[in-house]
Amino acid sequence: MTYDFDLFVIGAGSGGVRAARFSASFGARVAVAESRYLGGTCVNVGCVPKKLLVFGAHYAEDFSEAEGYGWTFDGASFDWSTLIANKDREIQRLNGIYRNLLVDNGVTLLQAHARIVDAHTVEVEGKRYTAEHILVATGGWPFVPDIPGREHAITSNEAFHLECLPRRVLVVGGGYIAVEFASIFNGCGAQTSLLYRGELFLRGFDDALRDHLKDELIKKGVDLQFKADIARIDRQADGSLKATLEDGRVMEADCIFYATGRRPMLDNLGLENLDLALDERGFIKVDEHYRTSVPSILAIGDVIGRVQLTPVALAEGMAVSRRLFKPEQYRPVDYAHIPTAVFSLPNMATVGLTEQQARAEGHKVVVYESRFRPMKLTITKSLERSLMKLVVDAETDRVLGCHMVGPDAGEIMQGLAVAVKAGATKQVFDETIGIHPTAAEEFVTMRIPTAI
Ligand code: FAD
Ligand code: NDP
Repeated sequence: MTYDFDLFVIGAGSGGVRAARFSASFGARVAVAESRYLGGTCVNVGCVPKKLLVFGAHYAEDFSEAEGYGWTFDGASFDWSTLIANKDREIQRLNGIYRNLLVDNGVTLLQAHARIVDAHTVEVEGKRYTAEHILVATGGWPFVPDIPGREHAITSNEAFHLECLPRRVLVVGGGYIAVEFASIFNGCGAQTSLLYRGELFLRGFDDALRDHLKDELIKKGVDLQFKADIARIDRQADGSLKATLEDGRVMEADCIFYATGRRPMLDNLGLENLDLALDERGFIKVDEHYRTSVPSILAIGDVIGRVQLTPVALAEGMAVSRRLFKPEQYRPVDYAHIPTAVFSLPNMATVGLTEQQARAEGHKVVVYESRFRPMKLTITKSLERSLMKLVVDAETDRVLGCHMVGPDAGEIMQGLAVAVKAGATKQVFDETIGIHPTAAEEFVTMRIPTAI
């Protein structure tokens, strides 16, 4: 049977665009349907605008630190709407780049919602298209718990388009988005509280870093409330919001921002037409080749719920595209040693095992830690401190994990990730000459263990 396309991709986000454009460049006939925005979550309501807001929020600290260097900024002020407008202009530019990436590679672009009709057919705006392979790359969507008054809360989707900076913000959640947005709102000048249901936020990261970041955020003025959760939200006569907590306490705010995880985006996708298996959390179940329970339908990225990060979606898109259309270049995605950063202020970044994971896996570990005031801050009033940590296997000397809280932690960790992935030992770190004076050189000069 001949099909209209070799590959029909649903969703032009990180994973979908990568798979579509490389498949087309390998000679496949490819179509992409995108219902919302080219570039997907990352470009429009994720990584990119988030990072621009983090840069914006950091200027408050830059101005105050600059005073230590002799600068004065009389009358410095901040305008949220200017930041949002400039951010929107940049995103529009990126949308155009994503369009060109697809069209210039010969991909047929359909800017509308797609529904799967059967194992080889997709419907877009009433028209049916057949394809040998269908790739579901529809991403995720914010999940908000079902509490009374949840309609008064916003999520990251809306936060990027707030017309003005709220005076008082309650951020709910203890993951990446909650911590990053607490830093953004606080840095921009909003009175910010973060409410997390557990003992300490950022579950899964190294405990020493979680603790350190907690102290740093408190120093910067974020009101951290652990073991706290909202039971109901009410809008008051003056338009402000009242949050009643599980423990009966009441907090008032102008904005309540939920960052309590993301669900797979499967809305109106036509799953009722198929026998497509989902996992126990509702994400699409796939095998090692990203094949769903319907073999001609593949799925990658956030919708499969493995690791919800853009570079992982890109790698999965690349793997699908190569396996189908350039098998001689195929390599499976290696999920070990994925580096990651939380773009809070200060940043937190990590690669490899935490001390707790290493011990739980049965490694005998040697731990090195360095806590210090960044040199740039020594002649300022800032009390911010950095933390760097290495987790080393005592028997093989291999560096199992690198962890950092401090300025540019994400930038520093990317390079260390290459060393950890290559299997570098602590001796290799020790024999590496530092770049002086930098903060990063600390990672190659830690000599005295702090725990074994
Ligand atoms: P997406 O990028 O979500 O793309 C899915 C696309 O499919 C969307 O454009 C959607 O409109 C479209 N679609 C859905 N259903 C249909 C349909 N039926 N028909 C047609 N089109 C459809 N990751 C990082 O690595 N670093 C970060 O700093 C980072 N920051 C983030 C900040 C926030 C606030 C959020 C929410 C996420 C962040 N992420 C970050 C995660 C990252 O954005 C995702 O992991 C990544 O975008 C997943 O790519 P994807 O291709 O799976 O899906
Ligand atoms: P996360 O999964 O990171 O965190 C969700 C948080 O919400 C957790 O603290 C969780 O608590 C809490 N939570 C979950 N359900 C409830 C509930 N019913 N009531 C109260 N609290 C609840 O999700 P995010 O939304 O922060 O981000 C989604 C994903 O996007 C991230 O996991 C990450 O993969 C990606 N991302 C990456 C970024 C980066 O690379 N810098 C930035 C932003 C997002 P508990 O820990 O107790 O389960």
